[in-house]
Amino acid sequence: MSTVIEMKNICKSYQMGSESLKILKDVSLTVEKGEYVAILGPSGSGKSTLMNMIGCMDHFDSGEYFLNDIAIHDAKEKHLNRIRNQEIGFIFQKYHLIPTYTVLQNIVMPLLTRGETLAWATEECQETTKMLGLEDRLSHRPSELSGGQQQRVAIARALVGNPAILLADEPTGALDQQTGQEVLALFKKLNDLGNTIIMITHDLKVAEHADRIVRIIDGELFEDGMTA
Ligand code: ADP
Ligand code: MG
Repeated sequence: MSTVIEMKNICKSYQMGSESLKILKDVSLTVEKGEYVAILGPSGSGKSTLMNMIGCMDHFDSGEYFLNDIAIHDAKEKHLNRIRNQEIGFIFQKYHLIPTYTVLQNIVMPLLTRGETLAWATEECQETTKMLGLEDRLSHRPSELSGGQQQRVAIARALVGNPAILLADEPTGALDQQTGQEVLALFKKLNDLGNTIIMITHDLKVAEHADRIVRIIDGELFEDGMTA
């Protein structure tokens, strides 16, 4: 097995005026290729902050982070842009699609950012959009789609670059029960196909769809079974 994520003793605080608030406290996390991990914790526990660290979106104060053997703690900002684009597929609660772009334009965007041609990127997307049932929606705008369809577009966009991990923050949070279940079934399928998934949630029922649950409580991580 190969290790995709290795975080060691990550600390992160936010400066609030003259006060420094410790948000992540000595967080260590290892994720192997092909794992499906849920990070479960209540509101305010530090989930989104941790997602920003895993996704290389923000700096941490101390600790080490290796993503696919790349030392993130030593990486330069320019290098981090490439890492975010190529190694991580982000999925957010509120989809974060570009409203003026079509479905296809949204999905190909990460590939175009890498410098691929539109023709190549469009070809590359075909299989993914088919698997996600979006093939007859490609020229629609996000506002013309249901919430579940918009989330599937966001999942397609995350997948096309073939990232090392899919990183999802409350992916079912904006969806009704049944649509949320459909998205979770899709995650299961993507994991069965070999994708490594980290899903962040406050909902135990959602977390139970993953193979492994890690709890975050007040900025500290606990493997499930270690807490009462
Ligand atoms: P969760 O996603 O679990 O709800 P967050 O990671 O968003 O938690 O927030 C954890 C804590 O950090 C909260 O107390 C929040 O108020 C604080 N926090 C988050 N972002 C910032 C920021 N940019 N500046 C100051 N405090 C922040
Ligand atoms: Mg959050």
